[in-house]
Amino acid sequence: MDSATAYLELTEHRHYQYRGCAPVPADIADFPGQALGDPALSIDAWSTPDRAEGDMEPQKVRIARERRAAAACGGCPVLAQCRAYANAETPGGRLAEPDGIWGGQLALDRHRALIKRRTAAPAAAGVVEDVPEARTAQKQAVLRALARETDEELVAYRAGMDVRTANWHRSLLCGLLGLDKDTATRQQLLNTARRLNLLPKGIRIRPDGRWPIVAAPSGDGVRQRRIAPDMPCQVVLPGYQHLPRTTPSSPAAGPTRASGDGARRGLRLVRPAAVQLPLFTDPGAVAVLGRAA
Ligand code: SF4
Repeated sequence: MDSATAYLELTEHRHYQYRGCAPVPADIADFPGQALGDPALSIDAWSTPDRAEGDMEPQKVRIARERRAAAACGGCPVLAQCRAYANAETPGGRLAEPDGIWGGQLALDRHRALIKRRTAAPAAAGVVEDVPEARTAQKQAVLRALARETDEELVAYRAGMDVRTANWHRSLLCGLLGLDKDTATRQQLLNTARRLNLLPKGIRIRPDGRWPIVAAPSGDGVRQRRIAPDMPCQVVLPGYQHLPRTTPSSPAAGPTRASGDGARRGLRLVRPAAVQLPLFTDPGAVAVLGRAA
């Protein structure tokens, strides 16, 4: 349903005047703008208050206001029509109501639902939708780098930005493509990007191997361990191939985080049992490890 039709269905509903966010008639209201659905609320509770720059609404106040307004929506006689209208898309492909609380939903919920519809639709109908926000030069660079590399530092290097910025873009991409930032893997992100034509045709995606790399890793490897708790952490040495992702011989040994010079040079997550490979017969690697120690 288009947004104009949905708007008419809402505003011409015979119970529209009794909606929860309608003002109580001035002659019986306790205060101006008192909301019909919750006498303690103002009708302004459904939208973000205008404030001077730097004078943000405190988080606790905002959450309490939003919860109360959404609860009032629960008893609204036109909730279904209101939600359908707020989630409808304009001819320009935007949400009819991108801000505020409508139909008991926060703006974030509606944006998430929109992204979900857009990413689910191609699989169902074989049609590729577009996500214009994911087509910026930086996000495209991160996606191409992510297809070629599995290490976050090499991804950042190939994308021409620092690791933090690259991870931030990866996290944003997860949100834009409707993936869970905490659990989405690199392969899931790239597969979704490929399905939406965000990657150049024919680009080869380097496989993760047995280790599912998180799409937007945390610096201490927490997300990696959450999605693959039984897998070892890896040693990263600049200029060298990744170590094979083998299970360590001593399962009792837990991952530890390298510190000091080693961490700065790229010796990041070390599982002692995994440091046993022919790589360390290479004099260059031994020299790097010596300096890192
Ligand atoms: S469902 Fe819509 S019309 Fe009803 S109270 Fe909530 S925002 Fe207002």
